[in-house]
Amino acid sequence: MTNKQKNDPADKLLTLNPITLAAQRAARADVKRDSIILLALVAAGVLIQLALIYYGFANVLWIIIFLGILYLISNWRQWRAYTKHELHCPYCTKPLTNGIQLLKRPGPYCPHCGEIALATGRQLENQKT
Ligand SMILES: [Zn+2]
Repeated sequence: MTNKQKNDPADKLLTLNPITLAAQRAARADVKRDSIILLALVAAGVLIQLALIYYGFANVLWIIIFLGILYLISNWRQWRAYTKHELHCPYCTKPLTNGIQLLKRPGPYCPHCGEIALATGRQLENQKT
């Protein structure tokens, strides 16, 4: 087993107290719900790109700008959900976010102690309240 496999969040059993479990479930539900909005933005962006191609204004720069905006929005919605639900590390109890960082996606590890702090979707579903 490699180091990467040993550190895979899905392999480590993360037991959360009921408050942390509820907060992580709520944050995950928010991110999931926002995915519909992101999907609508993708659909609108594709339609706009097709219109630009049809009217002869197609440009690779527009596509790069569009994809960059989608990436920033995707990161923002994840950070916003984690900040809104005040997720804390189950090990050191420090907050998992220090504000929104648009250029970086939130990871499963605690920025303070390095432990895996976010449960996977399967772990959240399987844990009893
Ligand atoms: Zn921690």
